[in-house]
Amino acid sequence: MTQRTWRIGLTGGIGSGKSTVAGFLARRGAAIIDADAISRSLTAPGGRAMADIAHTFGKALLSPDGAMDRQAMRERIFRDSQAKRQLEQIVHPLVSQITAEQAQAAMQNGHRVLVFDVPLLVESGERWRKQVDRVIVVDCDTETQTQRVMARSGLVSAEVARIMAQQASRSQRLACADAILVNQGLSFDDLDAQVAQLAADFGL
Ligand code: ADP
Repeated sequence: MTQRTWRIGLTGGIGSGKSTVAGFLARRGAAIIDADAISRSLTAPGGRAMADIAHTFGKALLSPDGAMDRQAMRERIFRDSQAKRQLEQIVHPLVSQITAEQAQAAMQNGHRVLVFDVPLLVESGERWRKQVDRVIVVDCDTETQTQRVMARSGLVSAEVARIMAQQASRSQRLACADAILVNQGLSFDDLDAQVAQLAADFGL
């Protein structure tokens, strides 16, 4: 009997340990499709969204190297309420297209578990939810999140708090979860053991 293909959305607030879990799942044979990396590649020099971005927003939104000037775009979105939607109308279909290409390639390479690593899955509403069979949320308390991000990035706690305020709340995220990985007070080995248990449900 051929094994079914699972499409799993993996999400979690900044510092929850989502990337760590993605790494553990990859070691067990899952294909990881990284939505943020796809999105960034679209607006990098030569990225597939750049011609449309230049056409829609003009040269002022381009860096000298041909990438999107992120700071200029943030300022534009702050001033112009339409700009965010216009940018999303360019970027979202391309993200969907590249995601589908990567999923197809992973299946052709024999992967039967496709993990879509999407930091803002919950924030995207139905957009990502409808593309996956299950949602896994990596969870820890906000204090732990803050400490991890500060240690990793050198940001001060007010800056981390500002990023977290732009993300869904812990309870909103948990409300969307089909499975929760609690990454708190655990060693990496303990976390990996939890991942192994969950992965077994998907045939890994
Ligand atoms: P996210 O992708 O959710 O932002 P990461 O997986 O990058 O989070 O983890 C944030 C930081 O916390 C990383 O430096 C990671 O090594 C560390 N970390 C994650 N889980 C644990 C854990 N169980 N024990 C110790 N450090 C952890």
